[in-house]
Amino acid sequence: MRIVFMGPPGAGKGTQATRLGRDLAIPHLSTGEVLRDACQAGTKSGREAAAYIDAGKLVPDETVLDIVVNRLDQDDCETGFLFDGFPRTVSQAEVLDRLLGEKNLAVELVLELSIGTDELISRLLQRGRSDDTEEVIRERLQQYDALTKPVISYYHQRDLVETICGEGNPDEIFARIKVAVDKVGK
Ligand code: AMP
Repeated sequence: MRIVFMGPPGAGKGTQATRLGRDLAIPHLSTGEVLRDACQAGTKSGREAAAYIDAGKLVPDETVLDIVVNRLDQDDCETGFLFDGFPRTVSQAEVLDRLLGEKNLAVELVLELSIGTDELISRLLQRGRSDDTEEVIRERLQQYDALTKPVISYYHQRDLVETICGEGNPDEIFARIKVAVDKVGK
């Protein structure tokens, strides 16, 4: 199955997407994770990305799309994939559609993990990543509202979105996700 996993920073996307990728035995790609690895490795693109990540801004589409194109070209993506944190802009979503269209494929399900802002901020402050300071969190939430929410509307037009309540314990949330996936998979 070809799944896009969306949700604001702190919604628990990473944890749930990793678990779902394993459960469905499909590759899981977190663009945020690949970008953070590149930052740590200190490559040129990693150093460029770090400035955006640390400011809570989105990394330019070109850098992110390079990562996605390379990953989609690998054989294991033939059975499906789970994208986590991508696409984050409508233009990224359009490129993804085009790339898949060239292979006669399409996104089949968009999972939106939804959670209240107060809960998000308290989870992010507890997590303590370098981009989890109060000021950067505010910027990331703004970027989400301005640039990523329109992606959810884009997929709503095609009736692909299942919104999952992201509050509660991780097992409960995963059970809700499985119900949504099974509905589409059957
Ligand atoms: P995440 O781990 O998904 O929260 O991503 C961490 C950071 O990586 C984001 O705040 C962005 O700066 C960057 N990032 C991850 N995915 C994307 C994307 N699809 N487009 C642009 N920037 C991204």
